[in-house]
Amino acid sequence: MSSRMLLSCDPHDNEAGLKLLEDLTTNANQVQLEVLEEILTQNANTEYLRGYLDGHSDKGLFKKKVPIVNYEDIKPHIERIANGEPSRIISAQPITELLTSSGTSGGQPKLMPSTAEDLDRKTFFYNLLIPVMNKYVDGLDQGKGMYLLFIKPEISTPSGLMARPVLTSYYKSSNFRNRPFNRFNVYTSPDDTILCLDSKQSMYCQLLCGLVQREEVLRVGAVFASAFLRAIKFLEDHWGELCSNIRTGCVSDWITDPSCRNAVSSFLSKPQPDLADFIEFECNGESWEGIIKKLWPRTKYIEVIVTGSMAQYIPTLEFYSGGLPLVSTMYASSECYYGINLKPLSKPSDVSYTLLPNMAYFEFLPVQKNNGEVTQQVQRNGGCIKKEGERVEIEVVGLVDVKVGHYYELVVTTFTGLYRYRTGDILMVTGFYNNAPQFWFVQRRNVVLSIDTDKTNEEDLLKAVTQAKLLLEPYGFLLTEYTSYADTSSIPGHYVLFWELKTRGNNDLSKPDHTVMEQCCSIVEESLDSVYRRCRRRDNSIGPLEIRMVKPGTFDALMDFCVSQGSSVNQYKTPRCIKSKEAIKILDSRVVGKVFSKKVPFWEPCKMETK
Ligand code: AMP
Repeated sequence: MSSRMLLSCDPHDNEAGLKLLEDLTTNANQVQLEVLEEILTQNANTEYLRGYLDGHSDKGLFKKKVPIVNYEDIKPHIERIANGEPSRIISAQPITELLTSSGTSGGQPKLMPSTAEDLDRKTFFYNLLIPVMNKYVDGLDQGKGMYLLFIKPEISTPSGLMARPVLTSYYKSSNFRNRPFNRFNVYTSPDDTILCLDSKQSMYCQLLCGLVQREEVLRVGAVFASAFLRAIKFLEDHWGELCSNIRTGCVSDWITDPSCRNAVSSFLSKPQPDLADFIEFECNGESWEGIIKKLWPRTKYIEVIVTGSMAQYIPTLEFYSGGLPLVSTMYASSECYYGINLKPLSKPSDVSYTLLPNMAYFEFLPVQKNNGEVTQQVQRNGGCIKKEGERVEIEVVGLVDVKVGHYYELVVTTFTGLYRYRTGDILMVTGFYNNAPQFWFVQRRNVVLSIDTDKTNEEDLLKAVTQAKLLLEPYGFLLTEYTSYADTSSIPGHYVLFWELKTRGNNDLSKPDHTVMEQCCSIVEESLDSVYRRCRRRDNSIGPLEIRMVKPGTFDALMDFCVSQGSSVNQYKTPRCIKSKEAIKILDSRVVGKVFSKKVPFWEPCKMETK
């Protein structure tokens, strides 16, 4: 079954691509109606939709009857498919794989359905990024992109369906591997280095290829800012060895992956002592400020997502980049690819994404903004709240009906079996391009801490802290207050918790034993969800968690500060995560002891439940 709404975009034809964008955004409403019509007609007889619509595909009925749901509501259906029941529980098209999201449910990654056709939808989306970039930056066809891209291990579900991250799925697909040769899309990394499962060998080989081709590189990047900074850190740790390989023309023995070795050897066909000397000289310099421009002098921009939780990396990126533009091209997820940035050179703080109306059917749940915090207007059962026994409809609005300056949670109905699914992403409307709204990515609902792909919410943090503080009680210490922040001043970043302790009964100002506090750090880490522990253990993308003990009275000082900034005294609640530099300073100036986790927490790939 093929889709009327699955458009194609020739990545070589800039003009046609831009024209397509004009059409899609001008006819946003019409396209959305067609998308919904198509999804409903195709899937009316799925078990899920039949339950609400009895085989009808009427759009009005859909909005009236089909509930707005969270992952927990659809999890049983997805688990049934993972356990071997047919796709038509939720989708007329066969579900070909499950995509492991970085969002978790019950501590494990959420699984999102995907279909063969959806790979083509992603290809369309990637192809549309090319004319947009070419509109703003000339001459990208005169060189290469050094994109550091990685795959992750996949697991097989009991039904034999693969469960893996969305980008692993895409890079391994024939859409990626057989991409038409495209002069705007030439990468320094051979596919075999991207497709190497050993992340250290993959990183080493990709950097080696990038360094050897340094004069051809016009842009550098990774998907998220955190991954790009990890690559810089890796370069800091390995430049000596990389230079020695370039000097001799032989790759290190520990690169044992045959395809990787083979791919790299064609770039190291001869000794290049001058190149090695140059790189060595730059890397050996006093400071790594502006190192990107020094090593890759023709680079026009750095392509990494720096919106949302990634904004915390902007200062560090600016330090290494030497003032290159930071470009966030797209907003996407395992559920669906959503939107693109039509002004890629705008400042990170001004980035808006325009949702492409043919990617899915989009709806928006209004959220309120108070005192800098966005709060949900709705309860768990979706578009309705219960008020004195009656159901009060909360108005969910369509794509073209959102209002500038308003905040919404994005709700999607996809071609792959998600119906009115709350993504958890909070967006603010910044304006319109033709008739399509543009959104600023505000935050992920509830997330308080994030370094890499981890998304720790208040509840996760509370649970972990509750476990850890039990350890202190036998020693007579009580945890009276806590808060946290993501410290990204070093690479990798790490979680910092501020703890105010008191001793039971008297005014003794002693501190708990250092090793007990170390164990507290470990217990917090062990209690956080599997994505956090995976980043810590497998990916090394998060450093050891730190607890900073603060003097008695510190949290009163924090409250005074928050109240001075406009919080109401009556409604004041200790923020469980601090973003303001001044507030962190207040806490830091009262630190009486610091301790880090000494153990890497346990993690193993999620095991699929078998029934
Ligand atoms: P995942 O489900 O692991 O694929 O992660 C997708 C999530 O990452 C989205 O729902 C967003 O919360 C976040 N995300 C993706 N793209 C962006 C972006 N451009 N800016 C900010 N956050 C993003």
